[in-house]
Amino acid sequence: MGRVQDKVAIVTGGSTGLGKATCMLLAAEGARTVIADIQDELGAGVAAEIGQSGGLAYYYHMDVTAEDQVKEVCADVFTRLGSIDILVNNAGITGAPKPTHEITVAEWDQVLGVDAKGVFLCTKHAVPYMKRGGGGSIVNISSVYGIVGGMDVPPPFLYHAAKGAVRLMTKSDALCYAKDKIRVNSIHPGWLWTPMLENVGKDSTEGPEEFHKRILSRVPLGHYGEPSDVAYGVLYLACEESKFSTGTELVIDGGYIAQ
Ligand code: NAP
Repeated sequence: MGRVQDKVAIVTGGSTGLGKATCMLLAAEGARTVIADIQDELGAGVAAEIGQSGGLAYYYHMDVTAEDQVKEVCADVFTRLGSIDILVNNAGITGAPKPTHEITVAEWDQVLGVDAKGVFLCTKHAVPYMKRGGGGSIVNISSVYGIVGGMDVPPPFLYHAAKGAVRLMTKSDALCYAKDKIRVNSIHPGWLWTPMLENVGKDSTEGPEEFHKRILSRVPLGHYGEPSDVAYGVLYLACEESKFSTGTELVIDGGYIAQ
């Protein structure tokens, strides 16, 4: 019996990185896992990989910023699988590394659109189905930069704004839906080795080698996290072992914000 046996879990941005690790782990623990992403080939590959290891997974193309797509996917998942028990709001982008006075409104809208509005839309359309099923668990992936500022990286201020919004959306949704037995918690990862981090390193003005050296010098444990380090946190918050936790924030960062 897995820790999320037979639960239906939707993971946004599940085609790669942290989302993929989360899908693999939830499926290994018995969940019927829905990978919702815009990277269709990668996502279908994750579903196939889970299927080959004996799990159940389904890929859906879903842009978290497009309300019609989010609504349709949630409805289709409910019709096909009978419930939505777990929602992992993981899809995210970093945006341009610019200070506030150089950011355009289009750049603001793009990052806040994926990182904050995406969480709002997926929560909005999953909650009615969770209510019908008598409860559920929503796990929002924020960041350490949803808790503290950070000038040690080219400052993606947009990202901080969006991840801070996710942190407090989590707490107010937790209060709002507690009576419906829907728990809502956030996770705040530090630096994880995923395609996102690889791209931030590649795009840095100092070059990837210097970038990684500098960032790692700021991580007390001295290495990057693996996606599975955070996926285990998601599993805990998704399953019944965390049944008394809601509105809480789980930091998984190698000690980065303990300093
Ligand atoms: P990643 O490697 O870039 O994977 C994110 C996935 O989400 C990609 O497949 C991406 O597609 C997809 N996505 C982007 N926009 C989307 C949209 N509008 N609708 C649906 N899917 C979309 O990122 P990651 O590093 O695994 O990060 C996952 C989450 O953890 C993010 O919320 C991120 O902010 C957070 N996080 C990451 C780190 C880190 O160090 N990696 C640290 C703290 C927090 P594209 O490739 O086309 O964009």
